Amino acid sequence: MADHQPLLVACPRCRTRTPWEGNPHRPFCSDRCRTVDLGRWADEEYRIPGPQVDPETIDNLIEFPRKD
Ligand SMILES: [Zn+2]
Repeated sequence: MADHQPLLVACPRCRTRTPWEGNPHRPFCSDRCRTVDLGRWADEEYRIPGPQVDPETIDNLIEFPRKD
């Protein structure tokens, strides 16, 4: 029936859902989003030390496959 579905996470930048496994850019969908986000950190948009990504946040980003 249902095939094995890859774990998907929403890219923090563009919200594109992208597979978690095998994604070298995670939690971002692509190198581009990752670079843009890091660039924002480098600028002053995120001057506050934090928010840090903790496991709980990651959990909230992850969508687990439905079991039913
Ligand atoms: Zn993205």
